[in-house]
Amino acid sequence: MQPSGLLHLGNLFGALDNFKRLQADHECFYFVADWHALSTNYENTTRIREYVREVLIDWLAAGLDPARSTLFIQSRVPEHAVLYLLLSMITPVPWLERNPTYKEKRENIEGRDLSTYGFLGYPVLQTADILLYKGDFVPVGVDQLPHLELSREIARRFNQLYKPVFPEPQALLTEIPKVPGTDGRKMSKSYNNTINLSDPEATVRSKLKTMVTDPARIRRTDKGNPDVCPVFTLHKSISAQPVIDQVNQDCRTAAIGCIDCKKLLADGLVTLLTPTWEKRQELAQKPKMVDEVIDAGTKKASSVARQTIAEVSEAMRIS
Ligand code: ADP
Repeated sequence: MQPSGLLHLGNLFGALDNFKRLQADHECFYFVADWHALSTNYENTTRIREYVREVLIDWLAAGLDPARSTLFIQSRVPEHAVLYLLLSMITPVPWLERNPTYKEKRENIEGRDLSTYGFLGYPVLQTADILLYKGDFVPVGVDQLPHLELSREIARRFNQLYKPVFPEPQALLTEIPKVPGTDGRKMSKSYNNTINLSDPEATVRSKLKTMVTDPARIRRTDKGNPDVCPVFTLHKSISAQPVIDQVNQDCRTAAIGCIDCKKLLADGLVTLLTPTWEKRQELAQKPKMVDEVIDAGTKKASSVARQTIAEVSEAMRIS
């Protein structure tokens, strides 16, 4: 994950919950990709360090377990840059130019000059991030599939040119709901419509109060349609099944109004987030604990990374 701000419910249901599940039966490496953040935000780096820490605190508070997963910061393991350089020597530029994200972002992100070498090459850095740990699987969304295909192509090219060092990483696709924000659009930092994991209870409740609902339901007596209501979409990720069923039924008959329905959602969300808030408070009292987690994760990641670089150097016959 890139350190671009505080994590929100979209990040939790769309990524973090899956990261947590994978911890049970996979050896996982999760890192905060601060070098990647430079590929689009190189002009404004003032808050990167602060966000790196916030992301790590959000991870720990939400239940990523440093005893089971290796958690670290990309820039603390310089082998990522070494492998990136070596792989860049064998990656044809047209492979990068045909990347759909490259074309789309270059055209659509306004006010930033993305005609940089780093932006064109970031899928190579991403490939280095994966191959450095000989990753078998990468938990990503469909939007990342072209990047992963490129990673496999680069791995294959390396293996053919030198020696078979790398496995070809596969996507671990999970059906991920698109979590709506308080304005009904996709929840995203860029839209200012997020409910953050670190928001206190009062903020969570007041944000939900202003959340948009079925636009056709104007009066309390109007019958609603949960299928088009973003509040109901959140219920499905947050509330207990009996609450979901009840809301689904009572909205359609106007037995409950939107205010009651949001109150039930707020109660469910508070229950869901309370352990995260408690853990966050615990971490705030022991800031050294976060440093220790990062140090230990960096140490573990570095030892794997150094071993891979040794094999790569041997295969390429460089020192
Ligand atoms: P943002 O849009 O807030 O900048 P990111 O792009 O940093 O979020 O996303 C980090 C991770 O969280 C990605 O895996 C992404 O797919 C997931 N994610 C972000 N927003 C949502 C959402 N609204 N619904 C589902 N998943 C999301």
